[in-house]
Amino acid sequence: MPTTADRRPVLFTGGTVLTMDDQHTVLTDADVLVVDDRVAEVGTGLSAPDGAEVVDASGGIVMPGMVDTHRHMWQTAMRAYGADWTLTQYFVWYYLEHGAKFRPEDIRAGNLLSAWDALEAGVTTTVDWSHGLQTVDHAEAAVEALRSAPGRYVLAYGNIQAAPWEWTADPAVRSFFGRHRGSDGDMLGFQLAFDVTGDPAFPEKAAFELAQDLGLPVTTHAGVWGATNDDGIRLMHEHGFMQPDTVYVHAATLTTDSYHRIAATGGSVSVSTESEQSAGQGYPPTWQVRRHGIPVSLSMDTSVWWSSDLFSAMRTTLGADRSREHLEAHAAGDTVTHSALRAEQVVEWATRGGAAALGRDDLGRLTAGAKADVVLIKNDDSPVSFPLLNPYGHVAFQAQRGDVHTVVVDGRVVKRDHKLVGADLASVRTEVENTVDHLRAAMGEEVWQQGMNPDLPGEDHKVLDNPYQYTDYRSHTTHGARGTVFGEPNSGR
Ligand SMILES: [Zn+2]
Repeated sequence: MPTTADRRPVLFTGGTVLTMDDQHTVLTDADVLVVDDRVAEVGTGLSAPDGAEVVDASGGIVMPGMVDTHRHMWQTAMRAYGADWTLTQYFVWYYLEHGAKFRPEDIRAGNLLSAWDALEAGVTTTVDWSHGLQTVDHAEAAVEALRSAPGRYVLAYGNIQAAPWEWTADPAVRSFFGRHRGSDGDMLGFQLAFDVTGDPAFPEKAAFELAQDLGLPVTTHAGVWGATNDDGIRLMHEHGFMQPDTVYVHAATLTTDSYHRIAATGGSVSVSTESEQSAGQGYPPTWQVRRHGIPVSLSMDTSVWWSSDLFSAMRTTLGADRSREHLEAHAAGDTVTHSALRAEQVVEWATRGGAAALGRDDLGRLTAGAKADVVLIKNDDSPVSFPLLNPYGHVAFQAQRGDVHTVVVDGRVVKRDHKLVGADLASVRTEVENTVDHLRAAMGEEVWQQGMNPDLPGEDHKVLDNPYQYTDYRSHTTHGARGTVFGEPNSGR
């Protein structure tokens, strides 16, 4: 890890500052001063200490670094491979095909790529939901990668190739935590990651007990259609394992009873809208969970399928929530005249929401004394950069990763003038290419191609009969009702 010697004070000047403080104060033409690992001051007319790096933030938005609470970083090694999958195809890939073939060096390659990917997009803290840790060697490789990139990470240790009560019973797993916890200050945290099937015998109890014993939060895929449901939540609750630091990922296919249990025990929900919209866990749940007062954070889930920036998460979450409100209203013959979910709220979920889920009230806000994780969104060459009228709306619907100008993590500049600092992407590329070569060879070309291009059974893509379509333009024949000719075959349509 870099040392304090490579830290200079950083002064952002003249920007629109989303402080995300308790009052959500927005300052215009304002400055943010970073000294060491902290935000020293936020205000106007601040002067630069000796040796400070001054970043002209005029025309831009200065905001806290974003926090992703659920990302399977290792899967980034097969970026975009599963773009057309459903959850069923993902499970085949994961349990039976490539997922099981990942070696420690492949976990490392995926994590390295994902770590820089997150920083590049202004995501300064990422929970690595690392459920491919088949051996402790895999876990060592995951940690090594996270340590080598200058972001803040939480390794959520998991192993979906074994049952939670099996892998958590391994003494080597316990000693892994003994070896690594606390060794990186607050730059690397830990959680336990496993799912609860709803088996009435509740075999997952042993895994929860390890978490309790080690004082580690649990993160769990809850409310996933066909996989986890209300039974798992109820069992957790009845056994006293629903804690304020528990993170429920997706929480989509759940009933009100589960939402009541989550709200009452103080846990939070990690919503991965891009994922829920296309994989089939259930409808992105913010429209329900916000009514129960359940805290929300945002996440991207996996780049084997989807994108990896929280701009996408904010945008899709606003869209899905509003879409559902309109649909529910229309079904009742009503019209929504005011959007309940605001751009400001999703910006909060992307920053403070994630910080709160991790129990970190020193992250996700730009206030004096907070950790210096800062993002400047500014792109003078882009017509999308102005006018800057509604800063929350601008972040949620206009900005994208290419507009991230500067990123500071723990007081260090990790992206400057749109370029990552200190990233050896050429060597990351080599590692990822080696992983792809290995996986492709291990499964064989046929499985590789089929996995990436899943078949669509015949009936599913048949174009439905259309009573208004009487002309077959291609064969220049007409079959209009009662002999009438509809349309001219060569009309250029
Ligand atoms: Zn997931």
